[in-house]
Amino acid sequence: MPEGDTIHRAAATLQRAIGGQIVTRFESVLPKLTRVDADAPLRGRTVDRVDARGKHLLIWFSGDLVLRTHMRMNGSWHIYRPGERWQRPHRDMRIVIETAAMHAVAFTVPVAEFVTSHELANHDVVAELGPDPLSDHFNAEEAIERMQAHGDVEIGDVLLDQTVIAGIGNVYKSEVLFGARVNPFLKVSQLTRDQLGTIVDIATRFMRANVVDSTQAGIVTYSGMRRTTGRANPSEGLWVYGRAGRPCRRCGTLISRRKQGPFVRSTYWCPRCQ
Ligand SMILES: [Zn+2]
Repeated sequence: MPEGDTIHRAAATLQRAIGGQIVTRFESVLPKLTRVDADAPLRGRTVDRVDARGKHLLIWFSGDLVLRTHMRMNGSWHIYRPGERWQRPHRDMRIVIETAAMHAVAFTVPVAEFVTSHELANHDVVAELGPDPLSDHFNAEEAIERMQAHGDVEIGDVLLDQTVIAGIGNVYKSEVLFGARVNPFLKVSQLTRDQLGTIVDIATRFMRANVVDSTQAGIVTYSGMRRTTGRANPSEGLWVYGRAGRPCRRCGTLISRRKQGPFVRSTYWCPRCQ
């Protein structure tokens, strides 16, 4: 599943591709969207900006209309020059936003809706998002306080709770806790405020390091390489995630994996370092 860094990276790329441009054509196979387009056409509106909140990608059009998409497991936004061949089959297309210079195409996005800015501010999912480490207004103290409000919950689960801190997914959960040397199965109430602060700092550092501001036009990929170790070799990019049974990069102990939480997500950790 794409995590916050990927969505922010996609938003930056889309902003460069279609931000400030006038929509010349809009197409969708989603009735919820085409209904709005029929009433209040997208064609002729300006793409005011593209940004992200947590894992939600927001495209703001002139005339107070916002397209919210959420990628879940398989969705992605691509950008193409007019006439360029799509990298995914046409049957996967859900939304096309064309400007004179660039076409933005959403494939298999499971969540897409038009909202006004007022509706967005009151949106049950978006409005309840916790502080987003990738936002310019990120408030680390607030993230720590929100964690502390869930004292009985294991830290590995709390990090996935988007109302506590936005944008962290299953990969970062394991990587951040390794970086902070915290066992994922400890409850928040068992951790000191300093430890929580370290977790938030490392989450911010890891996620920001992966928002690459690539200037090249082309495909926006959601499976882009994610690195936390700072090593260039892709096979050495992560500390623990996906490495069960292999030696810890720090101490050599074999990495463990266990399902955790109500959604039984895999958690990876080093039993010695953490
Ligand atoms: Zn270790």
